[in-house]
Amino acid sequence: MMIGTIASHSALQILRGAKDEGFETLLISDRERRGFYERFKVADELIEIGNFSDILGEDIQERLIEKNVILIPHGSFVEYVGAKEILNLEVPIFGNKRVLEWESDRRKSFEWFERAKVKTPEEFRDPGRIDRRTIVKYGGAGGGRGYKLVKSEKEFLEKVGNFDSKRMFLQEYIIGTRFYPSFFYSPLTGENELLGMDIRYESNVDGLSRLPANNGSIEPSYVVTGNLPVVMRESLLPEVYTIADRLIETSRDLFPPGLTGPYCLEMVCTEDLNLYLFEISARIVAGTNVWVPAAPYAYFRHGEPMYMGRRIAREIKNAERENRIAEIMS
Ligand code: AMP
Repeated sequence: MMIGTIASHSALQILRGAKDEGFETLLISDRERRGFYERFKVADELIEIGNFSDILGEDIQERLIEKNVILIPHGSFVEYVGAKEILNLEVPIFGNKRVLEWESDRRKSFEWFERAKVKTPEEFRDPGRIDRRTIVKYGGAGGGRGYKLVKSEKEFLEKVGNFDSKRMFLQEYIIGTRFYPSFFYSPLTGENELLGMDIRYESNVDGLSRLPANNGSIEPSYVVTGNLPVVMRESLLPEVYTIADRLIETSRDLFPPGLTGPYCLEMVCTEDLNLYLFEISARIVAGTNVWVPAAPYAYFRHGEPMYMGRRIAREIKNAERENRIAEIMS
């Protein structure tokens, strides 16, 4: 098998991981990006397309199937091609692609969290119900662009204007420290592994603390510009595993065979050490780049340099060896 992905997000890590496990690699790129990706020499082959959604075209799909490619989805992959459109791809996709619909729709994600009995921030169904500090979010993985903080309906009307329940999501803003643990669930072994954690570095909110007396006069924004590595107090880790295990269990009922492969939980930990889950990314996240070539928890578990891109390729290798490839793809 050949491991492929599209040129964005965590493509460098995915292809490096594939090479570390001895696979041939393929990158699908547009003209603008290919030069950048070619510098890293992680792609054995490159297919140039005009637009990322061209991957849905029959001719490209035929070429990929001929080459025996398995595609690894990442955040930009889902954003550019579309969670629904990916369902129609004939080319094998790593993991269960039905999860992409659940993770890219905030309301569906919250339904899943509720079933799993995981603590989440409160959701306000309309601005009239806002009774505390609230973050106004928009649909899709827009990277935090345009989010607003409000404390009341009045402030909502002033800062945002009309409420559009299809596009907007009003969520209690939890004050605490953020953690984005990345896991890998293996359907081959039934093991749910924590690999590493990061924190998103967001502009301008992460820059505001550098101003001596902001006094709240500058509005925060949450545009992801990078990631920082973090580890968590060890005594909190069992709780993180419990949450992750419950999400895996409930996912089996919601979209059989459930969530498999890489995923990331987006959490805030309050001063009384309560963990709140505010989002899930059910695929590799770009924050896993911070730990290449050895994510700390993955190293504890495997005793060798291991990171998400490599862990994915290892799973494909194990599935090929055991003749169980159908269980790790869709
Ligand atoms: P999201 O699009 O849900 O990943 O949110 C983007 C960023 O907004 C996060 O990385 C956090 O910094 C912040 N954020 C989102 N939701 C919350 C919340 N409920 N409480 C505190 N911070 C949040």
